[in-house]
Amino acid sequence: MKLICPLCGRTYDGPVQRCECGGPVEFERFRGEPYIGRSVWERFWDFWPVEPELELSLGEGDTPLVRSKLGKELGIRLYLKNETVNPTWSFKDRGTFLAMSHALKAGHKTVGTVSTGNMAASVAAYASRFGLKSKILVSENASNEKLKAVSVYGGEVVRVSGDYGRLYFESLELGERLGIYFINSDNPFRVEGYKGIAFEIAEGASPDYVLVPTSSGGLFRGIAKGFLELHENGLMDELPTLVAVQAEGCSPICRAFREGKSRVERFENPKTIAKAIANPYPPSGDAVLRLLREFNWKCVSVSDGEVVEAQRRLANEGLFVQPASATGVAALKRLEIPEGAKVVSILTGSGLKTLKGAPEGEVGECPLEELERCLR
Ligand SMILES: *Cc1c(COP(=O)(O)O)cnc(C)c1O
Repeated sequence: MKLICPLCGRTYDGPVQRCECGGPVEFERFRGEPYIGRSVWERFWDFWPVEPELELSLGEGDTPLVRSKLGKELGIRLYLKNETVNPTWSFKDRGTFLAMSHALKAGHKTVGTVSTGNMAASVAAYASRFGLKSKILVSENASNEKLKAVSVYGGEVVRVSGDYGRLYFESLELGERLGIYFINSDNPFRVEGYKGIAFEIAEGASPDYVLVPTSSGGLFRGIAKGFLELHENGLMDELPTLVAVQAEGCSPICRAFREGKSRVERFENPKTIAKAIANPYPPSGDAVLRLLREFNWKCVSVSDGEVVEAQRRLANEGLFVQPASATGVAALKRLEIPEGAKVVSILTGSGLKTLKGAPEGEVGECPLEELERCLR
């Protein structure tokens, strides 16, 4: 950039301090197509293990921290981290974006994941954005409805018959051999991307409790690591108490925690409406267990009935989340939280993705001639 004298207009290419005319010099005014925005990726630049491909960002992260009206009756200050506004409507996008940044730099041409839900759509979307091919492995009984969202983005869906639990490990092994980079639920770059949730929360509030819907454990580990990094680097005084929240019908981590086990065991016959957190054998389960013990954190499981109730109450203040994402708020009643405590619950994904199971509303009918009567 050139230097210019605001008095006489002389320009200089070199780094002079004053103009020949005696006036000061300044840089020319910027002209061009500026990159505006101080995204979470930029604000916390040094915390990522790989340089984020900012030009390919879809605007994931930097989600609102909403003050909830529900806190009042419980005597707490409740905030909701609204991750439903991410580009594919769940927090998965944060991790997918960072892992995809790595995949691109590492020269991979194809990426993959094992998922039927939010992660599948997220990986398919970002693969297209990054100009990569994606292979989405799903179980035999995955519903066509869900697969549609993946195909729309251009992902290749592959139904795999056989033991779904083994698919996670098999995909990593085969991916390595075939040059497909699998971005599964607790891929290390994915987990790093989730740290942004903790960073943003810490910018807006210093919470006493953070409620985290937990399935594979990737999200929980990411949020925990984010807070720990802030704390260890002197950017946060007190660590919050993290709470892993699971559905009663599939709660392998809470069960192992309660029973004092050091390993998570497979949860047989999982059954819950909170499908997005129903991994019966979470690949990061043992790691979550270790964190819970080390920091004296908590694990709480909630019933489907409580989930439906929490989902309805959130909708009544304008936030429509999927069942899995309502578990945090559902867990509030089961926790003994001191009066006045600051609590953040992570609303992990949008309710529009699970319309099929959503309650039917009443629809009134009215002929136009009688509209006045109907509206009274
Ligand atoms: C993936 C997901 C979770 C759980 O995340 P894990 O990293 O698997 O523990 C929670 N809620 C929603 C909506 C999800 O899509």
